[in-house]
Amino acid sequence: VWEYAPAPESRDIANLKPGYRPFVDGEFVEGSGEPLKSINPATEEVLAEVSTASMSDVDIAVRAARRAHDEVWGPMSGTERAKYLFRIARLIQERARELAVLETLDNGKPIKESRDADIPTAAAHFFYHAGWADKLEYAGLGPDPRPLGVAGQVIPWNFPLLMLAWKIAPALATGNTVVLKPAETTPLTALVFGEICQQAELPPGVVNILPGAGDIGAAVVEHPGVDKVAFTGSTEVGKIIQRAVAGTPKRLTLELGGKAANVVFDDAPLDQAVEGIVNGIFFNQGHVCCAGSRLLVQESVAEELLAKLRYRVSTLRLGDPLDKNTDVGAINSREQLTRIRELVESGDSEGARRWTSPCALPERGFFFAPTVFSDVHQSMRIAREEIFGPVLSVLTFRTPDEAVARANNTPYGLSAGIWTEKGSRILWMADRLRAGVVWANTFNRFDPAAPFGGYRESGFGREGGRAGLEAYLDA
Ligand code: NAD
Repeated sequence: VWEYAPAPESRDIANLKPGYRPFVDGEFVEGSGEPLKSINPATEEVLAEVSTASMSDVDIAVRAARRAHDEVWGPMSGTERAKYLFRIARLIQERARELAVLETLDNGKPIKESRDADIPTAAAHFFYHAGWADKLEYAGLGPDPRPLGVAGQVIPWNFPLLMLAWKIAPALATGNTVVLKPAETTPLTALVFGEICQQAELPPGVVNILPGAGDIGAAVVEHPGVDKVAFTGSTEVGKIIQRAVAGTPKRLTLELGGKAANVVFDDAPLDQAVEGIVNGIFFNQGHVCCAGSRLLVQESVAEELLAKLRYRVSTLRLGDPLDKNTDVGAINSREQLTRIRELVESGDSEGARRWTSPCALPERGFFFAPTVFSDVHQSMRIAREEIFGPVLSVLTFRTPDEAVARANNTPYGLSAGIWTEKGSRILWMADRLRAGVVWANTFNRFDPAAPFGGYRESGFGREGGRAGLEAYLDA
């Protein structure tokens, strides 16, 4: 078990940095965009002023990435590239404590999650892909798999460093270079990653990081020098990007929203299921694309399960994300808090029964108490729309066929969970659920070797595993 030293004051960490600026062609540069302020969502204080990229910075970054690809990174042997990826992985481990604190300050997630999930999993992605870099010819992707060139990548705010690792590690392993735009509310760890690239002596231009708003994301996507676009974020923006890329030779992968069903049968070990349900929807305040936001429970055990669930949720500790005992941290932004409130109000007005955890909310900061809606009908907005917050909607079913029909009754198709003692039922369900990932008797398990991605409004393409390499190779 990893011992965790007390966290330093937030300001100390922020002030450690010489300034958060775009990382272009191996250097931190003064961006010519409008500066943005990164807010600590748990205190509403300004954490850092970030210099952002402008359109011309996008052009400079793409040209640097092109040159680095053509002259250095593309021709380099896989064995050499692997050394850099291993170095980056080790540096993330060495700087894990600082990265975890910074992620928690910038995003609002509990420190125990950034410490135990985000940062180690980010390092794991670089280790895993370092292992592929010199073995691509064995990936079954043709005898001479070649990189596509420059990858333009745009990521969301819910797992800032981890989403960066999901994007950058496979791109670099396969010989591509990168221009990445982090989300406007969480750019800080991505910029520390720029420092890590410097420490790893990664050749200039191989990785470029451009903080900025959506217009900078759009400029990266639309730049003619970009060969491949990888986006994680909302379905709405995913569709805009799909239209922008249409008619160009650019390759595209989209990891979008979700409304996952977590299906509990009457033979399931209910206490274990409760842990999985809690993890499924309250991990990272529910800011998870694959969150188990719809609980489908078999009618005969619904009452018992709900009683157990409410008790367990009432024991969750909400508060200071830097406190290592905190289970539920802050909502990432005021805008997201407003969206959650609005959807919860729709649940009230559409007649669902709301139960809220009896926890005290801190006076400052963006917090929302864990909430469970029962008596939910499929037609309600809380059953159909992605809330992206700590709000669970509970529906019931009688038969396995009905469970499948309800679970699939969504425009999304990213993930699902099944809780039952019957192995045959797990296989039967997994075959029928339209979801890219199906967990059985567990939830929110990730491994760099396991492909992740969705169907329909959840996007297309896979990240992770051998399938994830395909998206970056011209095989
Ligand atoms: P968002 O779509 O608003 O923003 C995502 C990123 O896109 C940000 O960096 C943003 O600046 C940028 N952007 C905005 N407009 C753009 C445009 N026109 N062109 C290019 N880039 C643009 O999403 P968000 O609110 O940051 O993140 C939440 C969403 O992300 C949720 O819907 C969630 O389900 C989804 N998500 C999906 C996955 C997955 O793997 N499927 C993982 C995490 C989050």
